[in-house]
Amino acid sequence: MTVVARVVCPDYDRVDDALRRALEFLGDQGPFAAPGEPVLLKPNLLAPYPAAAAVTTHPAVLDALLSAACDLGARPVVADSPGFGSAERVARVSGILAVCRRHGAPLLDLGVGEVRRASGRTYRDLELAREALEARWLWNLPKWKTHTMMGLTLGVKNLYGCVPGKRKVAGHFRAGRSVDSFARSLLDLWDLLKPALTVLDGVVAMEGAGPSRGRPIVRGLLLASSDAPALDWEAARLSGFDPRDVPTVRLCLAQGRVRPERVEVCGDPAEPLRFEPAAGSPCDFSLPGPLKRLLAGVLSPAPRFDARLCTGCAACCEACPAGALTPGAPPEFSQERCVRCYCCQELCPSGAVRVPPRGIRRRLPLVGGRRS
Ligand code: SF4
Ligand code: SF4
Repeated sequence: MTVVARVVCPDYDRVDDALRRALEFLGDQGPFAAPGEPVLLKPNLLAPYPAAAAVTTHPAVLDALLSAACDLGARPVVADSPGFGSAERVARVSGILAVCRRHGAPLLDLGVGEVRRASGRTYRDLELAREALEARWLWNLPKWKTHTMMGLTLGVKNLYGCVPGKRKVAGHFRAGRSVDSFARSLLDLWDLLKPALTVLDGVVAMEGAGPSRGRPIVRGLLLASSDAPALDWEAARLSGFDPRDVPTVRLCLAQGRVRPERVEVCGDPAEPLRFEPAAGSPCDFSLPGPLKRLLAGVLSPAPRFDARLCTGCAACCEACPAGALTPGAPPEFSQERCVRCYCCQELCPSGAVRVPPRGIRRRLPLVGGRRS
């Protein structure tokens, strides 16, 4: 059986206790590290936002994991390649850097080191940061967030930060408009990196226009597992979505990587809490399952650029994998070239990029949860 630990954690003052319980529930699913050996901790350092914005993994979660690594006698290193800004800047703004310094853990920017090529099940020429690919012990610390392109960003998607810097753009271009192709590349990364442990920060999650412009929502949970695809399946369910609407989870179910009858969820009871989906995302419209998935590729909306908010910084143009944007305020947009990856929305520092809802929006009322 694959075990997913699900532990209530109402606020960030109680993460240590919640993590200890989660690791107890995982029992013999390890080992997760070895005394004297390095362990690479990979939080979500998407872009420079304060911890309260719920864009990045909360420093209290990293703090607890660093303590756990030290208790095991391991030598922790913290690493990521942000989508926007250097790892040091993102870590400073989010509070991660102060935690690293307190534990004496080095912070690596995976965007500036050596690159290794590797072959996955689908793609033969994946490029990854050497430190991540060669790490014997990798701890994956995603933030629980909605995501305009992928429905949700959870354990599997968090590994995309191990693709260095602008090489992420090439991965989006290769996938084109197909979210399934992009999901396959993420599963290739999972196969290559195979984190020993994934701990999902769902104490305060994000709903709406994730992964960077959504609203914090108190979900009050930590999930942990040695199997990120199984953890993602449970998290999608707890977000109030059909797990098959999240492309990476759908692929895992289709390929037999996740077999729900073989997943044992241990820990505290928790009911699904309906997240507001990111507009335009695969979780955003309701039709019978097969029809919805057939239409998903057809109905992907184009991003829109708000001239009142745009500063002309050109960050979106640099991030666009398809060459669909020409600098300006707002940028000039090519409908034909756009592959609907929504990197422009994800990385715009001014909130000037919006993605409209798909044709048929979810009409069910949003229930529960504390929105802030
Ligand atoms: S849309 Fe955003 S990222 Fe693009 S130029 Fe305007 S402010 Fe910069
Ligand atoms: S315009 Fe935006 S959504 Fe379209 S390809 Fe470029 S970054 Fe992706």
